[in-house]
Amino acid sequence: MALRDQLYIDGAWRTTTTTRPVIDPSDGSVIANVSIASEQDLDDAVDAAAKAFPQVAAISPRERGEMLRRAFEIMTAERDEIARIVSRENGKVLADAIGEVTYATEFLRWFSEEAVRTAGDFRQSPSGDKTIIVTHEPVGPSLLITPWNFPAAMITRKVAPALAAGCSVVIKPATETPLTALAIADVFERAGVPAGAINVVVASPAGPAVDRMLDDGRIRNLSFTGSTPVGKVLLRKAADRVIRTSMELGGNAPFLVLDDADLDLAVESAMVAKLRNGGAACTAANRFYAARAVAEEFSRRLSEAMASVAVGPALDSTSQLGASVSLAERDKIADLVDEAITKGGDALVGGSTPDGSGAFYPATVLRVAADNPILESEIFGPVAPIVVVDSDEEAVRLANSSEYGLIAYVQSGETGRAMRVARQLEAGMVAINRGVISDPAAPFGGVKESGLGREGGFAGIHEFLESKYIGLSF
Ligand code: NAD
Repeated sequence: MALRDQLYIDGAWRTTTTTRPVIDPSDGSVIANVSIASEQDLDDAVDAAAKAFPQVAAISPRERGEMLRRAFEIMTAERDEIARIVSRENGKVLADAIGEVTYATEFLRWFSEEAVRTAGDFRQSPSGDKTIIVTHEPVGPSLLITPWNFPAAMITRKVAPALAAGCSVVIKPATETPLTALAIADVFERAGVPAGAINVVVASPAGPAVDRMLDDGRIRNLSFTGSTPVGKVLLRKAADRVIRTSMELGGNAPFLVLDDADLDLAVESAMVAKLRNGGAACTAANRFYAARAVAEEFSRRLSEAMASVAVGPALDSTSQLGASVSLAERDKIADLVDEAITKGGDALVGGSTPDGSGAFYPATVLRVAADNPILESEIFGPVAPIVVVDSDEEAVRLANSSEYGLIAYVQSGETGRAMRVARQLEAGMVAINRGVISDPAAPFGGVKESGLGREGGFAGIHEFLESKYIGLSF
């Protein structure tokens, strides 16, 4: 497949006069110069989505499902090529990129099946004077804004339910990683999605471009995945237009190791929860709370495993941990670790920035006190701070002492105990004795400042549907 570096608007590829280099963070080289949308391009994209909306909404659910199924087949066949684009523009190792693209394609398959299953409601009113019929209708042209850390999966997790529901979309991918989004638009084009149903605009700077598209007035739904501060800005903007929103925001996941945990499993799960995507995941375990009885042994085994991780270029088959998306992002990780050490933390493994042009940071384990500032930040890197706790209650209290509430991890040898702790954790998702639970068939999303709404599962399509109640006497 050809590397797409143009915008995709109204079923056509459009080269613009302004371009921006897309950088490979493994070595600083330029992968492509991507077209940046002008104001006219942004207006055209919204116009195309608005005009295509009635046409997309009129496609039968079965045919929408089949379009998604064709996209699934094409993307599956081209998995490795798309994964190489992900690795190059994001910096993650190829194994992680292949895992991400596989996960991304599964949203196409799941929502191809969901397209025909949006059941309504039909019953008598309690007073018996009328019949209640509830149907679902597509919400309208939707603006989808995605982050750089999962350049493929965050696109399909939104586009697939949108199309399944009958919505047209404008996608604004992260400026750092636009090439994957454009490659996926190419897949949809070949799957026979009608012109205007899917549009991709690359924007820089993002804020004014998004303002302009919302100010058009025809966008009815804003689906955002990204940081909590930007999510708050967008919620305020959405409030001005009273449009639907779905917000998948930041996380600061606690990882609880109870005193009866199987430590082999705990370390295996911790390695996945920490290092998948190089730690640049909203679901990444960021705060390890280990019971005093096992903390020493857990720290020793985790340190041993982290020390053996090979850091290197994303496409080098010996690399297990790739680069951060940019030097600026890498330096943020380094600053957090430096501050954690200044404030009394000990580096058990790693903890210093390597020389060279790539945006690398080593797998790092820290022993910190419960009030260390690193525990308040989304680290977005391969850094595991461990805190010793004296009881399950203390672990839960510290786990809940965050404004975030996306996911939490519990390791325990007793299912009932793990379930009791899981029920007390303020999180939209809890993983028990596992390092990863994301699944297209399950509802993904957070509570507190981690967001509003759910993607995937049975809930995902409803982010793109409105309920309509029709009442009548019969
Ligand atoms: P970000 O918030 O900086 O950017 C996300 C997107 O918003 C990008 O497309 C960006 O160009 C755009 N954007 C930035 N400023 C904007 C503005 N003022 N107006 C409109 N759009 C704007 O996030 P990021 O650094 O790309 O991604 C990392 C963040 O995403 C982390 O906080 C991570 O936890 C979060 N994330 C959450 C989930 C989830 O499902 N909850 C999944 C992946 C990533």
